[in-house]
Amino acid sequence: MRTAITALTEELRRLKASGVTNVTISSDSLARLQTVVSKRVDASGVALAKETVPPTINPIAAPSIKTPKKQETPKRALPDPPTVNLPEGDKQTRWAALRELVRKDETCLTQLAPGKQLVFGVGDIDSKIMFVGEAPGADEEIKGEPFIGPAGQLLTKMISGMGLKREEAYISNIMNWRPQLPNQAGSEQMGNRPPDAEEMAYCLPFLRAQIEVVAPQVIVALGATAGRGLMGLDAFRTLGEVRGKWHEFAKTPLMVTYHPSYILRNKSNRSKRAIWEDLLQVMERIQMPITDKQRGYFLSG
Ligand code: URA
Repeated sequence: MRTAITALTEELRRLKASGVTNVTISSDSLARLQTVVSKRVDASGVALAKETVPPTINPIAAPSIKTPKKQETPKRALPDPPTVNLPEGDKQTRWAALRELVRKDETCLTQLAPGKQLVFGVGDIDSKIMFVGEAPGADEEIKGEPFIGPAGQLLTKMISGMGLKREEAYISNIMNWRPQLPNQAGSEQMGNRPPDAEEMAYCLPFLRAQIEVVAPQVIVALGATAGRGLMGLDAFRTLGEVRGKWHEFAKTPLMVTYHPSYILRNKSNRSKRAIWEDLLQVMERIQMPITDKQRGYFLSG
């Protein structure tokens, strides 16, 4: 049963990451789920974390599932988002000053787990494309570099599919730290959680400043959280609704597409093609050469 719950949880997480906010469940299944959930609570004596059931479950003609109260590490309120003032100078000077500002930011530093690093953007500061992800994960906070874990390796492949080297793009995140999951004191963090609105609002000025310095021709937001962070909660409904269309952030054309981790969980050509079509639009927008082979990627199978 534990395996089934884990599989269900993973599937719900996957759906949530791909932009699904509601799933429908029959009353029978819901009743069974509720029994299992309440047994888990009773057996361990510890309430399930809310993250265990990510999207809202809408029962068909049944009362909504009661998520047991989350046992949370009390969250410190963050100060107001910082005002970023960059020095005069050339692009490189301004970018390096901004990176130093982030690296020394007391609020960012306080969010780090012991021994872990803040993560700032990397790549060509003259790039026409800026990719923006959600937040550093386990690999990234160790190395202090965005997108170097499995999702990052896939992003690198996507970039090379576009005919570029990874270092020819600029890659960053909404967040400069890895959002911490509530966990037992002293234990390693076991998973990622999406940043909340306050956390994203705190880091956003650092991303805005990177956009100002790099001045890309297009921004590609990877996944629902990055899309939500850039478009704002009112404009962003679901990833399905906003992806594949042009939006704007900081006066720069913005394409929102799936996060590479979605493809890691859905390896079908259909999923790959969906993200690829968004990238083809990006290539067209900045007038990159596109071969027939590139146009046909992931069309078959
Ligand atoms: N996922 C992200 O959104 N950003 C990273 O840097 C790594 C994984």
